[in-house]
Amino acid sequence: MPGIPCSVDELKPPAEGQLARIENGRLIVPDNPVVVFIEGDGIGPEIMASARKVLNAAIEKLYQGKRKIVWWEMAAGEKAVRECGKLLPEATVEAIRMTRLGLKGPLTTPVGSGYRSLNVALRMLLDLYSNIRPVRYYGQPAPHKYADKVNFVIFRENTEDVYAGIEWPAGSQEALKILEFLKKEFGIELPKDSGIGIKPISEFKTKRHMRRAMEWAISHGNKRVTIMHKGNIMKYTEGAFRKWAYEVALEEFREYVITEDELWEKYNGQIPDGKILVNDRIADNMLQQIITRPWDYEIIVTPNLNGDYISDEANALVGGIGMAAGMNMGDLIAVGEPVHGTAPKYAGKNVINPTAEILSGVLLVADFMGWREVRPLVEYAIKKAIANKIVTYDLARHMPGVEPVKTTEYTDALIGFIKEADLAEVLGNQ
Ligand code: NAD
Repeated sequence: MPGIPCSVDELKPPAEGQLARIENGRLIVPDNPVVVFIEGDGIGPEIMASARKVLNAAIEKLYQGKRKIVWWEMAAGEKAVRECGKLLPEATVEAIRMTRLGLKGPLTTPVGSGYRSLNVALRMLLDLYSNIRPVRYYGQPAPHKYADKVNFVIFRENTEDVYAGIEWPAGSQEALKILEFLKKEFGIELPKDSGIGIKPISEFKTKRHMRRAMEWAISHGNKRVTIMHKGNIMKYTEGAFRKWAYEVALEEFREYVITEDELWEKYNGQIPDGKILVNDRIADNMLQQIITRPWDYEIIVTPNLNGDYISDEANALVGGIGMAAGMNMGDLIAVGEPVHGTAPKYAGKNVINPTAEILSGVLLVADFMGWREVRPLVEYAIKKAIANKIVTYDLARHMPGVEPVKTTEYTDALIGFIKEADLAEVLGNQ
């Protein structure tokens, strides 16, 4: 599409919108904020079209023209190659930095492109250090007996841990040099054919991540924040993550926080109103606990790798990837992004489930921008569609006798439910 800016000089936000701004360390979102969107590759254009329509309909219903998103398209991935001759134009990164608000579809990273992953590059360039993945049940077919009890928000650190990409193949000059160094300096002898990966976890990055999780818990009225770690074994990385996370909770949020000891010593096992229980679980136990006792967990704060494992497991409990939303957040900047990829074999077929992209938009608009009413309204429409068996193929195949609808039909059904919703009832139930 002509008109997508490629270079920073061409950036001109749409005149009918205003940019979110920072005042006294807080994000001020105007009633007509400019929000960058990136369609993405594969199924991206279909799910992004659906997400924008559903969000616009919910905002119109709730605020009747008083609030409106002004969408601003930027390119990344294959579209950016077509439009700008490169996978990730500077203009795209700068536009998100400028607006502080973005919603993206999934992106393909071509092999040999020079990027390990385009998504990771975008997160790193914008320092979007916390990946937030809510896992909820909307009545979809789900394999777990307690699926209706699942309601977690996983906070996964985005920028360090073994995922930071510091690694070298076995036999490479770098790997051999490190093996030599370990032997010479520390007397540690490892097999010569070892690949080497480095797992950095720092105090600064752990603490800023935990801060976002605590702020989320306070602003959303959550009662439990659990630190997930493997600190019993990896003491100075995962163990330190646990220690630093507790320090943030106890030093910066003490008025809200009770510990597990205090819960039993002072409160007889009941979390008092206005308090948040901050506890920790070792990673392997945590992976069991969300299955056996999902009701005991609300916010789960983890380093990168644990977060990867637990979010897939948690999403499986409630029925899969087409519903799995995400958002990447930094200091007063956020980009919504579904957990799934570009699903290339379904691209252009109008069959895919757009719910994950829609809910990623809800994270941005309701939870980050603070237009809170958008969440219950959109969730109401999703629940209603599922209850009425209006679902795409991925859910229909687990619902005997149900014919799948097209992506666009599902989108129209959601918009219909939003338009007809009795707001007093939908918002009153919150
Ligand atoms: P994928 O998530 O794209 O698809 C795997 C399968 O999951 C699909 O074949 C489909 O059966 C199902 N699926 C995914 N999304 C769905 C939806 N919305 N509705 C219904 N079913 C859905 O994973 P993949 O095949 O491993 O990766 C394909 C491409 O996506 C790769 O190039 C990968 O790099 C990229 N990717 C991008 C992101 C991102 O942009 N954040 C994330 C993961 C993968």
